[in-house]
Amino acid sequence: MNSMVASCKSKVAIVKCEDYQEEKVYEAVRESVDLLGGIGGFIRDGDRVLLKPNLLSGKTPEKAVTTHPSIVSAVVRLVKEAGGIPCIGDSPGVGGLKRVAEKTGIKEVSDIMGVKLIEFDEAVDVENKRGHIFKRFEVAKAFLGADVIINLPKLKTHSQMLLTLCVKNNFGFVVGNRKAKWHLKAGIDVNFFAQMLLDLYLLIQPQLTIMDGIVGMEGDGPGNGDPRKMGLIFAGIDCVAIDTVICQTLGIPSDDVYIIRAARQKGIGKTELKEIELLGEDLEKAKIRDFKLPKTHDIGFHIPRVLSNFIKNTVTSKPSIDHTKCRSCQVCVDSCPSQTMKTINGKINIDYKTCIRCFCCQELCPEGAVGIKRGWLSDIL
Ligand code: SF4
Ligand code: SF4
Repeated sequence: MNSMVASCKSKVAIVKCEDYQEEKVYEAVRESVDLLGGIGGFIRDGDRVLLKPNLLSGKTPEKAVTTHPSIVSAVVRLVKEAGGIPCIGDSPGVGGLKRVAEKTGIKEVSDIMGVKLIEFDEAVDVENKRGHIFKRFEVAKAFLGADVIINLPKLKTHSQMLLTLCVKNNFGFVVGNRKAKWHLKAGIDVNFFAQMLLDLYLLIQPQLTIMDGIVGMEGDGPGNGDPRKMGLIFAGIDCVAIDTVICQTLGIPSDDVYIIRAARQKGIGKTELKEIELLGEDLEKAKIRDFKLPKTHDIGFHIPRVLSNFIKNTVTSKPSIDHTKCRSCQVCVDSCPSQTMKTINGKINIDYKTCIRCFCCQELCPEGAVGIKRGWLSDIL
């Protein structure tokens, strides 16, 4: 059984790493795993090891949208040293894996290190015995072919969920446009969506998670926020515990993060610092000052879905198209779960009456043309 549900403390390692210089990253990643007992505790000779970075879209590493290639190559090295057979997989939100891997530097890692890239394009229906609500999931077939899963998220803000950290990165196991269906099902009820993400996490249960927080993203993430240097790597087994520690590091009350709040309610993972054994860097010294949250961090998501569209439009933040940046690529139209975006007279138009505020359009727009507009009542409040 994964230690996240055991009664003993969850271990979370924090290691400083100033930049993405390859050897420095390797040493820092290795140190973080050594603090957890060493890579040999996770991988046996001959294990097929699936590395799951965040490969949201085809942006260069400096944009801080995706897990940095030097983190991925460091983990590939560690896995090989332990006798494992690594491969790298994901299901990008925009564009195929080949194109995204090229842009993000992951293809170079795969070519140089002789590691297979696996596109999550085939789904299998899997029973989720540990799930609290969701007892079955359709997930990438690659999940079944792996002996060990290593989760490699990127530390970023998220306009819908506030932050996208370790638990959320497992959403990549949902294949392609099936993600949009989950967004639609979750609607404006982010707590429901958080519960789904936790149930999915209980299914995937990566054996090891290493968070790329060397340069994270603040502001209106996860696709178009601002890179923020933090110089940190976090590692652990319990994704909820790592997310809790990251909140402390950023000075964000963990109850503001829907996933952690739902985890606390359901007793999934460790959500209190007193239940977590911190290893490595002193938490106080690791703290990041003035971390900028998305504009959506308002009271919008706390209103029940039964409230009228008037209240929804005046209180909640909403997506807004900057037509000077828009290239009419249709990515947002194709990925909008409620099909509320249409091209009218050559311009993208959003029907706010049916918009569920999932911010997939803002997350996936390759041009950064979808901004976030706060509701006027929210501004006053
Ligand atoms: S808003 Fe962005 S995603 Fe939508 S059509 Fe314009 S450029 Fe493409
Ligand atoms: S317009 Fe954007 S925020 Fe609204 S439902 Fe569509 S993708 Fe989600």
